[in-house]
Amino acid sequence: MASAAERAGRDASQVRLLAVSKTWPVESLRAAFEAGQSAFGENYVQEGVAKIEALSDLPLEWHFIGPLQSNKTRLVATHFDWVHSIDRLKLAERLSAQRPATLPPLQVCIQVNVSGEASKSGVAPDAVRALALSVRGLPRLVLRGLMCIPEPEGDEGLLRARFRALGQLQHELAEHGLVLDTLSMGMSDDLELAIDEGSTLVRVGSAIFGNRTRRGVGK
Ligand SMILES: *Cc1c(COP(=O)(O)O)cnc(C)c1O
Repeated sequence: MASAAERAGRDASQVRLLAVSKTWPVESLRAAFEAGQSAFGENYVQEGVAKIEALSDLPLEWHFIGPLQSNKTRLVATHFDWVHSIDRLKLAERLSAQRPATLPPLQVCIQVNVSGEASKSGVAPDAVRALALSVRGLPRLVLRGLMCIPEPEGDEGLLRARFRALGQLQHELAEHGLVLDTLSMGMSDDLELAIDEGSTLVRVGSAIFGNRTRRGVGK
C-alpha cells in the first residue's frame, strides 16, 4: 500500500486498510489486532455479529461490506460502525431508523455498479446523486463515500477504468456540493491500481489471512 501510494504521488496516510475477515475465526482477528490492525470487514450478518460479540474486549472498528437484506438491517444497525453496501434508499432508511441513540451515527458508503451489465450489485451511476442526497438527509447516518466491486474477470485496463469512474462520480458529487471523503475500492489482487486511482480505503482479505477457498467456505 505504501509503495503504491508513493508511486501515485500520494501520502500513504491517505489510504486506510480494512482487513476483510469473512470465514476466518476470531483467533485470526486477534492475531491481526496484535499486529496493529483494528478495522475489520465482514460480509455475512450472523457471522459478523458473532465475532463482534466475541471480540468486544478489543477496541475494533467493524465494517459491513456484503449484500444486505432489508430484514437483517437491525442487527447491522446495532452492531457495526460502517456499512459499505448501501444500494437503495429503503435500506438506508431502515438503518437510520434502527440505529440506537446510544451509538454514534452509522458511517455509510453507497455501492455503485461501475460495471454495467457485467454486475448485478450496486446502484447505477446515473442514480447515485439522487440517492446520495436522500441518504444525506437521514438523521442517524453519515454519508462518507462511494464503494465499488468491479467484475472479477476484468483485465488491468478495464479495472482501472472502473476505479476511475468511481473517482469521477465522487468529483461530480463534490461539484454539486456533496463532498465525500471515502473511496472504498481495491482488494487483494488490485489494491495498487485502486490506490493509483484515488482509493482511500482498500478492502483486503486473502492477502492478509490466506486463501479462503482452501478453507472450503466463503467465495
Ligand atoms: C471478500 C471481499 C473482499 C476481499 O477480497 P480479497 O480478494 O480476499 O482481498 C473485499 N470486498 C468485498 C466486498 C468482499 O466481499
